[in-house]
Amino acid sequence: MSLAIVDVGSRNVKLSRIPEKDERELIGGKGIATKLLLSIPEKADLLSPENAIIFAVGPVNSFRLSGASRMTAVFKSPLTGGYGESQCGGFAPHEMALTGINALMITGRSDRPVYLVVEDGSVEVKPADHLWGLDAFETEEALRKDEGGEVIAIGQAGENLVRFACITHRRGRQFGRAGGGAVLGSKRVKAIVFKGDGESRIDREFEEFLDEQVIPKLSALQEYGTPNIMWLVNKSKSLPSYYWEKSEFDIESIDAEAMLKYFVRRNACYSCKVACGRISRTERAEVEGPEYETLYAFGSLLGNSNLKSIIEANELADRLGMDTISLGNAIGFAITLSRLGKIDERLDFGEGEKYVELVRKVAFREGVGNLLAEGVARMEKLTGVEGVHVNGLEPPAYDPRGIFGVALAYSTSPRGACHMRSCAYRPNLAGQLNRLSPEGQAQLVKELEDFYAVVDSLVYCRFLALPQIGMGWEDVARLLEISTGRKYGVEQLKRIGHMIHSMAWEFNRREGIEYGRLPSKLFEYGLRREDFERMLGEYVGLRG
Ligand code: SF4
Repeated sequence: MSLAIVDVGSRNVKLSRIPEKDERELIGGKGIATKLLLSIPEKADLLSPENAIIFAVGPVNSFRLSGASRMTAVFKSPLTGGYGESQCGGFAPHEMALTGINALMITGRSDRPVYLVVEDGSVEVKPADHLWGLDAFETEEALRKDEGGEVIAIGQAGENLVRFACITHRRGRQFGRAGGGAVLGSKRVKAIVFKGDGESRIDREFEEFLDEQVIPKLSALQEYGTPNIMWLVNKSKSLPSYYWEKSEFDIESIDAEAMLKYFVRRNACYSCKVACGRISRTERAEVEGPEYETLYAFGSLLGNSNLKSIIEANELADRLGMDTISLGNAIGFAITLSRLGKIDERLDFGEGEKYVELVRKVAFREGVGNLLAEGVARMEKLTGVEGVHVNGLEPPAYDPRGIFGVALAYSTSPRGACHMRSCAYRPNLAGQLNRLSPEGQAQLVKELEDFYAVVDSLVYCRFLALPQIGMGWEDVARLLEISTGRKYGVEQLKRIGHMIHSMAWEFNRREGIEYGRLPSKLFEYGLRREDFERMLGEYVGLRG
């Protein structure tokens, strides 16, 4: 595995081999990137040249295989001040895996806009003055025309250092959470082009296993995309609505069935037979999505039943480059602040059209948009009103008051309120354990965190790597053996998962961040503080 460290300030590119021991013990992707993040100076200023962003692929990403075109980005989050991490699918991950560079670490700050070209085992830094000011879609289009390859890019939100700016790829795929787009913006890196000329690898046996035993169990995801889960979450009273005042919503006009009215076609990451992406179109916008999380963030959370406005806000957020989960929460919190008379802007629930315009204002930091661009934790500090976040990250679409394990997962996820580090909502919603009890949640969350720390190091799609549908530790070990030639035992992989997860927390702790506390609103009904404390206590005992 090869590493490129690029200082965009000096234009210095340093190439090296990743030590064999790290390859073996940290696998790739998240594992390698997290170790590299630990090398940045302690307490580095969030948007300073000292911060770094590391893009990394793992051993499976050169395979032509369902679920295998994924990559990871790790950085110090401009939103939370802690461990920032995000994964993206599409075509760029497979392309990067064929460039001969497996990890790309970007440091420094350029004095003018630049983009990077990763090709043939090296990296070139090129001027991007002509791209600065374009949105992410326009940037990608221009670079694909000029350079070919696969492009990841920031929009104006990243340039304007919106703290939850994302990095966009192929319009609908994002490194969404925690503000990686602002890190690139602070370094004046507009985009990265991957041009791979290596050979794609194939393993027919594993492909057959996926085709016969895994993918058939994902038919709802194939048919409806991620919104297929909305009815179940809502039925379980776990769908946050009206900025966390309630846990259910009248979903009929925004659910998977309602989306059919705007449906154009399905979409897939490179070579993936699941094809969970769905393109929607209105007269004004075409977008990949909205994903379930966006239907929540611009829909139920804002008391908004206007699906057309959700699609259009989604398209604009993708184009300008912002994480819809954080953005929807910032808008929801602004509604609360407006109702309390804490801000001058008049905002209320159910004002779909207004939110579309607000998306633009946030990206350009105009008027009240400048406040929202700071994210909920900073809005809280500035106004003295408690918002909903855990360790600075705004929560996704799973209400801990209806799924207790999610409360623990939000606390122990190294990037703050995140449903993906453990995916604890899945076994809870499937009835594998009592979702309204603390019993067994600590063990479940720990086991899944370790599992996904390994999966994110492969880097493989968690929609397929799902123990509930039959792809568990043994299959991950098999995939690793196929891709690296090395045999891993399940217990060994569990230790590796624990180690990688602990490294992410090592980064947080040196930055002064501990397991998160939940805002008081999340204890108003359902979940009791003693339930949360019990789960956290048991979890700490298990982690040692
Ligand atoms: S399941 Fe969906 S997100 Fe995962 S690789 Fe396939 S198309 Fe991409």
